[in-house]
Amino acid sequence: MKTISQCPVCGCGEGRRWPSLVAPFIATFALESSISPCSLLECKRCGLRYFSGRFEPDELNRLYRDYRGGPYFRIRHRFEPWYSERHNQGTGHDPKVVAQRNAYLSAFLKHHKVEATERVLDFGGDSGQFIPEGIGTSRHVFEVSAAAPIHGVTKISDEGALEPGSYDLILLNHVLEHANDPVELLQRLATLLRPDGGALYVEVPHERYRIWSGKGALQKRYLAWLSRHGTLLRLADFLSTSCRVALGIVPPLGFPKLHEHINLFDETSLRMACGRAGMLVEACAFATRQDGRVISLLAKRKT
Ligand SMILES: [Zn+2]
Repeated sequence: MKTISQCPVCGCGEGRRWPSLVAPFIATFALESSISPCSLLECKRCGLRYFSGRFEPDELNRLYRDYRGGPYFRIRHRFEPWYSERHNQGTGHDPKVVAQRNAYLSAFLKHHKVEATERVLDFGGDSGQFIPEGIGTSRHVFEVSAAAPIHGVTKISDEGALEPGSYDLILLNHVLEHANDPVELLQRLATLLRPDGGALYVEVPHERYRIWSGKGALQKRYLAWLSRHGTLLRLADFLSTSCRVALGIVPPLGFPKLHEHINLFDETSLRMACGRAGMLVEACAFATRQDGRVISLLAKRKT
């Protein structure tokens, strides 16, 4: 894992910083190393919260090649006993959640007059189940995992096979928060869009929890001590996770944890990421759904 100290969206090196830990599950499964300290930073200029630790290519490959497969679940459940089989199956395959997400996306696109699309690509879109019915006559999903595509969707596993300048609409759902370099990813997608009006829909979770854990040297020493005491670490991890999910806070004696989301966007940072990738932002909205609170953004490729 490499370390950054400048914002991956705007390049600013100033802002707030909280001592953090790499999740024990991530350390074992993806990094194949012991638990290490890192920081959660908040950019002074664009507001992005980001973890200082960034994955190397081989680490990313280990994490995502069989995402939520058997070994992933077994190791994660060992370190996070509260992580259940049902959760591992994920809301991504719950018919109610899929229907709600697709209805939301259809309404968003209709409201912003993105309708008569032919070639549609869901980048990182699992089986293509999040391409709403009626959107696109030629429907594609780019996916590196082994997920099989649903009926009517063509799967592409090699990014080199994506045709530049050919897509009317690209969907980027819940991917950007995982990206080592979010601006570079958006730049790559911009080149795939049709130059005369191709649209990009980006959706990320809106994770702006309050952080009440310590900020200074004492907290660093506490986390170093905690990482040597497995049972207490699990208790502190459970306390942090449950308070964050239920109350929106990281409590005292808890800690921010580098897990799979390494970029935590707000509206300003998401807009700036698209702008720096050469896109024109047309709309940005917030929504609270069954699967959580999200930010949605619509951008067009500059002509
Ligand atoms: Zn920034």
